[in-house]
Amino acid sequence: MNTEESSFIIPLTHLQRRPGNMWEAELSFKAPVDMGVALAHVDPDSALVAEVRLESVLDGVLASATVDYKVIAECARCLESLEWEDSSEFVELFLYPETDSRGREIQGGEHEWVEGDSETATRFIHNDSVDLEEVVRDAIVLDLPLKPLCDPACEGLCVTCGEKRDGGDHDHVATDPRWAALESLREE
Ligand SMILES: [Zn+2]
Ligand SMILES: [Zn+2]
Repeated sequence: MNTEESSFIIPLTHLQRRPGNMWEAELSFKAPVDMGVALAHVDPDSALVAEVRLESVLDGVLASATVDYKVIAECARCLESLEWEDSSEFVELFLYPETDSRGREIQGGEHEWVEGDSETATRFIHNDSVDLEEVVRDAIVLDLPLKPLCDPACEGLCVTCGEKRDGGDHDHVATDPRWAALESLREE
């Protein structure tokens, strides 16, 4: 087990370029600050722990992983802070880049790990490494809830007092602003 925090860029030095060869490791990544959706994101002070498997195939490397991470979120109805442990998986193919006659990579320049938009992207091996950040991000973002709830039955906040509603007995006769106005008229 590798407990050191690694970058999302995994060198292929231990993977032989022969179909069927495999390399597996448990890696720990520092969570990026902006990995998530509006109301739920990966805790930026936590680490993502991934069981990564790299497998040599004919045209490249098949990367797969199960990633465990900590989510911090807000209930979409009552805004209560929530946190939980979650897990996402992915399988992604990285192709060997085409090289010119001198063996230089044609695709996969410094900022071209990916060709095409993210949905139809072809990913390439670059400098004999694979960059898992985008793939991890896509897998996690797809799994995070757009409307996290503290409880499926959460009734949200009271429009009058702003407190969390918790079922039947939430009565406002005394503090209803219209009553309060009448109350002050009577005092005058
Ligand atoms: Zn709630
Ligand atoms: Zn209320």
